[in-house]
Amino acid sequence: MSGRDLEGRALLVTGGSRGIGRAVVEAALARGADVAYCSRDGAHDPALAAEASRRSPGRRLAAFRADVAREADVEAFFDGALAALGRVDAVVSNAGISREDLLVSCLAETWDELLATNLTGAFLVSRRAVRELVARGGGSLVFMGSLQQYGAPRGASAYAAAKGGMTGLMQAIAWEHGADGVRTNQVAAGYVETEMTRHLPEFARQRFVESSPMKRLPTTEEIASMILFLCSARSAGINGQTLHAAGGIREMFL
Ligand code: NDP
Repeated sequence: MSGRDLEGRALLVTGGSRGIGRAVVEAALARGADVAYCSRDGAHDPALAAEASRRSPGRRLAAFRADVAREADVEAFFDGALAALGRVDAVVSNAGISREDLLVSCLAETWDELLATNLTGAFLVSRRAVRELVARGGGSLVFMGSLQQYGAPRGASAYAAAKGGMTGLMQAIAWEHGADGVRTNQVAAGYVETEMTRHLPEFARQRFVESSPMKRLPTTEEIASMILFLCSARSAGINGQTLHAAGGIREMFL
């Protein structure tokens, strides 16, 4: 259906080593893009590289070690990615961590760690991304958001604050740089099976499935497809929007 609509485009993905980010990397390569991604681990995955060159011969794939909470790391990631790919057309700010904690028991350290990665990280990535995309005459910036921006009964105050802050940032950038040809949007997921949700109890997963009009969880591939839609020219008229990606659910029940 999507074919090779990203042929010749260059995508940067934060948190591309596993989960949703990895699905974005794989799908972007399959659709003809050159891709650079980062993670704190930073290890180049030989299996991913081999699969990429088999499915998309000639496409470029580069992996970097970078912590999005650190300004110097983010700048070095962009410098390395631009050197490897030669250009950037779209940036996916996906790297994130989760901690469940009720407000009354949330340690200041937990709050700081979460905000540093999920919100300051999004700020550092989007600031450099916008500078590069404006210089190129436009492009797409996509955040990986969450329904937990609206809160969640099991405790997500720091995570909710970070994701809610990211929504405000996304909309501010959409206003500030829409006229420069930079579109900024986000995909907000509910529950996706990745390492992030692996520790959650089965009843939480079941509750989410039962609450969903679709009676199932979205896959990482489906989330990646929505992200790449927002990266591609097929979403050319969309700016400052949140695409809810939870099968029809708009609030968390976990
Ligand atoms: P995973 O834990 O599976 O993957 C997270 C990725 O981000 C890894 O590549 C990880 O690599 C990287 N990462 C984490 N912290 C940093 C950091 N400080 N700097 C750079 N890279 C980092 O999580 P998901 O794929 O599930 O989550 C991806 C995004 O989607 C997150 O922003 C999350 O909040 C969001 N989301 C997830 C949902 C879910 O149900 N799974 C629902 C809604 C939103 P490494 O550890 O090596 O740094």
